[in-house]
Amino acid sequence: AQVETPDQQLRARARRVIPGGMFGHMRSEGLPAGYPQFFARGEGCHLWDVDGRRYVDFMCSWGPIVVGHQHPVVTEAVQRQMAAGDCLNGPSERMVELAERLVGLIPHADWALFAKNGTDATTTCVTLARAATGRRKILVAKGAYHGAVPWCSPYPLGVTAEDRAHLITFTYNDAASLEAAVEATGQDLAGIVVSAFRHDYGFDQELPDPVFARRARELCDAAGAALILDDVRAGFRLTLRGSWDLVGVQPDLSAWSKAIANGYALAAVTGNDRFRDAASRIFVTGSFWCGAVSMAAALATIDVLEAVDGPAHMRAMGQRLRDGIAAQAVAAGIGVRQSGPPQMPTLLFDDDPEGAKGDRFTVEALRRGVYLHPRHNMFLSAAHTEADIDFALDATREALAALAAA
Ligand code: PMP
Repeated sequence: AQVETPDQQLRARARRVIPGGMFGHMRSEGLPAGYPQFFARGEGCHLWDVDGRRYVDFMCSWGPIVVGHQHPVVTEAVQRQMAAGDCLNGPSERMVELAERLVGLIPHADWALFAKNGTDATTTCVTLARAATGRRKILVAKGAYHGAVPWCSPYPLGVTAEDRAHLITFTYNDAASLEAAVEATGQDLAGIVVSAFRHDYGFDQELPDPVFARRARELCDAAGAALILDDVRAGFRLTLRGSWDLVGVQPDLSAWSKAIANGYALAAVTGNDRFRDAASRIFVTGSFWCGAVSMAAALATIDVLEAVDGPAHMRAMGQRLRDGIAAQAVAAGIGVRQSGPPQMPTLLFDDDPEGAKGDRFTVEALRRGVYLHPRHNMFLSAAHTEADIDFALDATREALAALAAA
């Protein structure tokens, strides 16, 4: 019999004690055969699976790793805080420092509160919008992801119609559809939730149209409703100021998580003074929401991102990757579409309705030590260097050649 690899052994053990062998977005069943499920370690922009293979990492833990795995400045801050304590009878000084830092950085923010996951933050924004306005309707874009609880889960299993009774959808970047959705709320609009840009799974990404963004702002102002930016996925990668700052529109509330503490569990809601009173009256909490270690990590992450101009570096590295792949695809005679901000690229193939080309391409790259995703947007980090991008481009050239030959 063939000897099983450590990854295969772990999968077999997991199937006995973990539902489906693995759950959620990191389940490797959603990826082509050949992708590892279990990882051993990460360092900088590299990660190693349990079978000992090393990859240049273009998923960055699906977003959280923004200055590189085990960044020494972050690790040092974490260790210092761990020595003092993490989970206490209340927050540490770090919470006030971090709130001050975010309020200083983010133009719309007059205050910040903290949680653990992106879903905590988006759900808090929705609760807050309803609490502040006394109204019920929440507008969300069709196909947008805002978390994994009943009000927003993209999967209907276990969710009732009542859980989503007050949601109305619109089409991202379509001001007319947003106006129609606002109209449909009558006098009951509590808030409009928008993603930083359109980053729906399996589709070409779209940056926000400034006309659409300004219209969303106007509609909220006219109705006295909350404009809620879900910056969970993009926050700190495009800019530290909140992603819609790039189109000149400030939200009332923003949800943050993923990258803000470089992989330590932290989420934040930032808001303006109009929502301060309601934010002080709603009941939102969790056993671990005051943890000081992730807040120390966030402070260090901001230090590093500012020191190296992380967003600009990630943009340059992402652009180098994009330009390289575009030239390689032309040379190989293969049609590819690269969309979204260079820091968070999506790569899809023309004439690939089943995703077979994307699967083949990414598996070939994986074999050559480059971890890409065939359908989801990917993530650059401040740890990627030109040499890492060029290493990846050697792999993508060969992967495209293999695809062309097939
Ligand atoms: N909003 C967006 C835009 C996201 O990308 C995610 C996570 N993929 C979430 C919310 C939910 O975050 P979490 O998984 O940390 O709850």
